[in-house]
Amino acid sequence: HAPQDSGHQVAPAEPWAALMESVVSASGQGVAVYEMGPFARAAELAVIRKLCGFIGYDARASGIATGGGSLANLTALLAARNRALPHAWQRGLGMAPSPVLVMSSDSHYSVARAAGILGLGTDSIIKIPVDGARRMRPDALASALDRARAEGRTVIAVVASACATPIGAFDPLLEIAAITRLHGIWLHVDAAHGGGLLVSPDLRGRLAGIDQADSVIWDAHKMLHMPALLTFLLYRDGKDRFHAFAQDAPYVFGDGETPDQAEWDAGLATAECTRKGHTVALWAFWSTFGTAATAAIVEHLVATTHAFYDDMRASPDFVPVHQPECNILCFRHIPEALRSASPEVLSRHQQTLYQKLIADGRHFLSATMLDGEWVLRVTVMNPLTTRAHLQALLSRSRELASAK
Ligand SMILES: *Cc1c(COP(=O)(O)O)cnc(C)c1O
Repeated sequence: HAPQDSGHQVAPAEPWAALMESVVSASGQGVAVYEMGPFARAAELAVIRKLCGFIGYDARASGIATGGGSLANLTALLAARNRALPHAWQRGLGMAPSPVLVMSSDSHYSVARAAGILGLGTDSIIKIPVDGARRMRPDALASALDRARAEGRTVIAVVASACATPIGAFDPLLEIAAITRLHGIWLHVDAAHGGGLLVSPDLRGRLAGIDQADSVIWDAHKMLHMPALLTFLLYRDGKDRFHAFAQDAPYVFGDGETPDQAEWDAGLATAECTRKGHTVALWAFWSTFGTAATAAIVEHLVATTHAFYDDMRASPDFVPVHQPECNILCFRHIPEALRSASPEVLSRHQQTLYQKLIADGRHFLSATMLDGEWVLRVTVMNPLTTRAHLQALLSRSRELASAK
C-alpha cells in the first residue's frame, strides 16, 4: 500500500474487499458444486454477468472464476483446442502437420507455456510481429493464417493482448477479430491487466472489438483492486466453457436428468475441484461502492501515468520509450554524459540504476527488456501514488545514478 510502490501489476487490495474475503474464507464457501458454497457461487454468477456486460457480451455469455490469469489462459486455450480438435481430449493429438497456436511476440509467457502443456509443443507457436507501438500487426496475422491454411495446419486459436505486459500496448482487436472471423478461428483475448479499463466509459474504447472474442480473461487482482488471486474466464458463448473438460463426473455434477444443475455447478468448467469463494470480495465491493468506484480508481491511475509522462518529457535526462496507453510506462535515464553512448552502455546503465533503486529501498519499480535492451518500468497501481511521488522517483534516480 505504500505510494512509492509502482513496481508490478498486482494491485494494493481494497481493504473492504480483503475483509469480505476473510469472511467468506471463514464461512467455508468452497465452490465446486453449488451446494458446497451456495452464496459464493451466487455471487460469482452475479459478478460474471456484470463482467460479461462490460465486455459487451449478450445473454448467451458465461464464465468461471479461477485461480489466476495463467490458469485462465490455459483453460481457455484448452477449450479452443477441444473445439478445434474434438477427439483430442480422448485420443490425444498425434497428428501431422501439427496444429498451431498464434500469438503476438509480446504475449504473456503463460500463453506460450499453454502450448507446451496442451501438447501442441512450443515449436508450433506462430509469433506475429508487433508494430512500432508494440501492437500485433494485423497484416502479418492475415498472412500467417493464409500460410497455415495453405500448409493444411489447424489453428487452435489466435491470442491477442489487451494489454500486453511489456509497455501496456493494446492489440487492435477490431481488425484482429475481422481476420479470425473470416477464417473461423477462435479469438482469445488476454485482458488480464487491461480488462479493468472496460469499467470506465472514458477508457473502454481502448478495447473496442473485445465483444467479438470467443473468450476473454480478466484478472480482478490487477485493475479491479481485489486481493490476489481472483481471475475470470469469460466466454461469448457460455456453452464453450464445457469444451475445456469433456469429462463426466456424475457423482459430483448431477445425473444428466437435471441439466439446470450444470449451470450452477462450477466444476465442469474449471481445472479445479474445490475453489475459494473469493468472488464474494468483488461482489461485496461493487455492492457497497458501485462499479463507479472502480472506474474512478482506474481513470485516476491512467491520468497519473500520463502526468508522469508529461513530467518526464519536460525533464532533461529521462526519456519515455512510448506514450502510455494505460498505467504502464517504460523509460530510460539518459544523463548528458551518456547522450552519445552505445545502446549496450545505455542498457547497462538502466540495469545498474534499477539495481541501485531496489537496494536503496525508497521506491519500488520494475525493469524489463525491450528488443534486447533494459528499460525502467513503472506500473501505477496504487491510487495513493501522486505525481509528486513519481517526481521523487526521478530525483532519487538522478542522485543514485551520479553516486559512485
Ligand atoms: C498478469 C498477466 C497474466 C498472468 O496472470 P496471473 O494472474 O499473474 O497468473 C497474463 N497475461 C497478462 C497480459 C497479464 O498482465
